[in-house]
Amino acid sequence: MIQAKGYAAQNKDTELAPWSFERRELKPHDVQFDILYCGVCHSDLHQIRDEWGGSIFPMVPGHEIVGRVVKVGDQVKKFKVGDLAGTGCLVDSCRVCANCREGLEQYCTNGHTQTYNSLEQDKKTPTYGGYSNTIVVNEDFVLHISEKLDLAAVAPLLCAGITTWSPLKYWKVGKGHKVGVLGLGGLGHMAVKFAVAFGAEVTVLSTSPKKEADAKKLGAHKFVVTSDAEQLKPVTGYFDFILDTVSAEHDLNLYLSLLKASGTHICVGAPPTPAAVEYFSFIVGRKSLAGSMIGGLPETQEMLDYCAEHNIVSDIELIDMKDIYKAYDRMLKGDVRYRFVIDMATL
Ligand SMILES: [Zn+2]
Ligand SMILES: [Zn+2]
Repeated sequence: MIQAKGYAAQNKDTELAPWSFERRELKPHDVQFDILYCGVCHSDLHQIRDEWGGSIFPMVPGHEIVGRVVKVGDQVKKFKVGDLAGTGCLVDSCRVCANCREGLEQYCTNGHTQTYNSLEQDKKTPTYGGYSNTIVVNEDFVLHISEKLDLAAVAPLLCAGITTWSPLKYWKVGKGHKVGVLGLGGLGHMAVKFAVAFGAEVTVLSTSPKKEADAKKLGAHKFVVTSDAEQLKPVTGYFDFILDTVSAEHDLNLYLSLLKASGTHICVGAPPTPAAVEYFSFIVGRKSLAGSMIGGLPETQEMLDYCAEHNIVSDIELIDMKDIYKAYDRMLKGDVRYRFVIDMATL
């Protein structure tokens, strides 16, 4: 076994603390990479506090993982020692269901293996995530990362990036489209960067007037304060797409009214309570209410390659491992520009 160290929660009521554990010895198709940076996702906090139920402890969170390969199994073809490598939310899947065969491993019908708080495909070995010094992953679930980009700022692409990239690509968002990005946080700021890069006209929809300057700096063309009825008037019946990144409760009927006929509202955030949607909010105007979850391996690599070519990364604040709870507190207040990333040299 490979000795590893990390930060773990021993149960839902304890805080993360240093923990030593074992990673599996490399199998023929495994890659081991030392973790240099790991992004901080809101879902990390939900899961260590068992807010979604079914959490597996001890838990080492973290699924925006980048580092450098230190060892490869004898059958590995895609990586060699010294390469940069990344892993996002998934480390395995059944590989045989229709979705896996299409590269949509995130929708594996037999249950994909998440990077942490999950079980390997043997359905008994727990997985441990990126708040740690090293990781062993099957090469099919390891991504190539360009040496050209700021590596720490690449980490959030592996969750926040792909979560917004995947729906924008699936719905072929581009030139001639008017896109509303609802919420300007870790996901929203990536949605703005991608939609602008694809040539869409982008409007940030936010409850906070303070975010206007940032939205424009990220490339957004317009900014609308959603609590201001006057500002909403000119964008009523306006958008082809709204990408909804908000994970707190909000009124979908209002946002459906901002779509033009045949427009699509795409949810990537998941509020804790069911939405109350009036049928006429989408019947009138033939509107679609849709959702999307992270992305598969082929599209994640496509996104990383595109980011290298177009010099796109996340806006980040780099933190020390010991300051993780300060980061969580600020994250809960929405006080982060726009993703915290842990410098694993501080572990
Ligand atoms: Zn995430
Ligand atoms: Zn599958």
